[in-house]
Amino acid sequence: MSVILVTGGSGLVGKAIEHVINTESEGSRFGKRAGETWIFARSSEGDLRDPEQTRKLYEKYKPTHVIHLAALVGGLFKNMKYKLTFLRDNILINDNVLHASYEHKTQKVISCLSTCVFPDKVEYPLDETKIHSGPPHESNFGYAHAKRMVDVQNHAYKEEFGCNFTSAIPTNVFGPHDNFDLEDSHVIPGLIHKCYLAKKNGTPFVVSGTGKPLRQFIFSYDLAKLFIWMLREYDDVEPVILSVGEDEEVSIKEVADAIVKAVGFQGDYSFDTTRADGQFRKPASNKKLLSLTGGFQFTPFDQALDLTVKWFLENYSNARI
Ligand code: NDP
Repeated sequence: MSVILVTGGSGLVGKAIEHVINTESEGSRFGKRAGETWIFARSSEGDLRDPEQTRKLYEKYKPTHVIHLAALVGGLFKNMKYKLTFLRDNILINDNVLHASYEHKTQKVISCLSTCVFPDKVEYPLDETKIHSGPPHESNFGYAHAKRMVDVQNHAYKEEFGCNFTSAIPTNVFGPHDNFDLEDSHVIPGLIHKCYLAKKNGTPFVVSGTGKPLRQFIFSYDLAKLFIWMLREYDDVEPVILSVGEDEEVSIKEVADAIVKAVGFQGDYSFDTTRADGQFRKPASNKKLLSLTGGFQFTPFDQALDLTVKWFLENYSNARI
């Protein structure tokens, strides 16, 4: 019998894991298995910044396994403005979750890092060995340092107590249940919302920047399957990058084109080239992932985007906007 606690279970990635567990056929590689109980915890069940509330959550569910997704997450603006809050809240959440897992003899914990944790000045492609090889970009150093510490803690818990703690490093995630806020969201949900409003109000759809930068996007349902794979089949402390390949980078223009198509927007559509572009590309290698999984079939980008737009349109009234 195993009890799998997913912290951050109400967020983009948590909801995707819940979807996959409930829709894949039972007993399959990613479906629910006999004897498994899955718990998807939201912050109202326990504020993980607080050790007592964290302990109570563990006492309530007695998890044998934990997928630890809960984090203070935000776009560039919020990261730049609230560096200390991002640092402290995430350090507290991660420390409480890992220590409660140790105290409750949890058999395995997979925590979630991000490719934002990598050094600013680094040789590309990013790979799992480069996390600590230089300071992160100053715009998100609070969030990045807090997340890096999880890798340090995982090693220390393993060396001192033999704990089976590890971490995953996803690239940019998108999918249903994302944060579609116009000011404080990632690029895909932000542009979907913007394009939807342009269509509704008959106004132009203007995308910030040249549209040229390239990014690797992973569909949340694919990421969910990879977390489930790690839970069942990966037992090493070293992190794994969970991403599509470097050859599957997509330009922001391709993203915007696909959104225009999926939303059915037919008005004026342009790029505001006076706005900053950010880094041109920051490719991450998924070689380790592919060699360990024996290959993984990612959902084609356009198909995943269509599904996300459809979800947004159908759930506009209760989406995070
Ligand atoms: P969301 O913002 O969608 O969800 C965050 C989750 O964390 C929510 O369930 C939220 O609960 C919970 N949470 C936040 N603060 C607390 C707290 N103090 N106590 C308990 N729970 C809390 O995030 P994502 O699903 O996008 O991210 C999941 C993980 O993936 C995070 O660790 C993030 O750093 C990482 N990641 C995300 C990427 C992305 O592109 N989105 C890219 C790379 C990594 P509630 O909503 O109930 O308040």
